[in-house]
Amino acid sequence: MLIAYKRIRDNARNGLAVVSITRDACGGCFNKIPPQRQLDIRQRKKVIVCEHCGRILVDASILERD
Ligand SMILES: [Zn+2]
Repeated sequence: MLIAYKRIRDNARNGLAVVSITRDACGGCFNKIPPQRQLDIRQRKKVIVCEHCGRILVDASILERD
């Protein structure tokens, strides 16, 4: 799972379809994300894809941390 997220982060750096949550909404299409879904994303148990735009949703911190 850690490797999977490293890959996602690398993709994010490459400008692929990975977005973080901004104000409880998808950073790509700005549709609201339900709290339960946000929790799943923060817990990083699985990869969550935005059901509206299909981008991979990640916690903002994953893009900052090394
Ligand atoms: Zn979206």
